[in-house]
Amino acid sequence: MIKENLEKIVSTLQSGVRLVAVSKFHPAEMIQEAYDAGQRVFGESHVQELTVKYEALPKDIEWHFIGHLQTNKVKYIAPFISLIHSVDTLKLLREIDKQAAKCGRIIDVLLQLHVAAEETKFGFSPNEVQELVEADEYANLTHVRVVGVMAMATNTDDEERVVADFECARRVFESLKAGHFAGKPEFNVLSMGMSGDYILAQQHGSTLVRVGSAIFGERHYN
Ligand SMILES: *Cc1c(COP(=O)(O)O)cnc(C)c1O
Repeated sequence: MIKENLEKIVSTLQSGVRLVAVSKFHPAEMIQEAYDAGQRVFGESHVQELTVKYEALPKDIEWHFIGHLQTNKVKYIAPFISLIHSVDTLKLLREIDKQAAKCGRIIDVLLQLHVAAEETKFGFSPNEVQELVEADEYANLTHVRVVGVMAMATNTDDEERVVADFECARRVFESLKAGHFAGKPEFNVLSMGMSGDYILAQQHGSTLVRVGSAIFGERHYN
């Protein structure tokens, strides 16, 4: 089924949109199955789980970190992570910079925006993100490269609310792109859309969708 699910989703991708297969809570064998079907980009949200899978699976996989990341765990993924979607504090950005320098790498990251109605979601407000990129301390970071923003829409059946969240994220992305990141072509990633809303997200400017259960089925949290 994984192969068929992937093919179905890939067939909906608009040109220029990439797919992160979110494999959290699913075993390495299922990731291998998706890999054998041609998928190379996978997303995980727990450091311990990711490092175990990284060791077990083919080394040409592009691993993305999509969950809340604690600063004391950055060091475990810094040697190999391709993209961290979930930067939500300057402190975390500083730690990624420090660990990337130790590995002799420059790590690509996205700034996570808070656009949803739920209070529990992590992320910067549109104003905070603007303040961050204008801060002196931000300018001194040499081993992180901000390549875009990530957002999660409100978890609701109300499509208007979801569209409003996506449009809010799109406006922040476009304004950073035309403002602080003007002349920086690498700033081109708008990560939004999950199993329930990845088609809608693409209609509202997403360039990177993060799809889990529509590929791998339900997750079993033990
Ligand atoms: C789990 C997760 C996803 C995937 O969710 P599905 O509904 O299973 O597609 C996407 N983004 C983030 C940040 C997640 O934590």
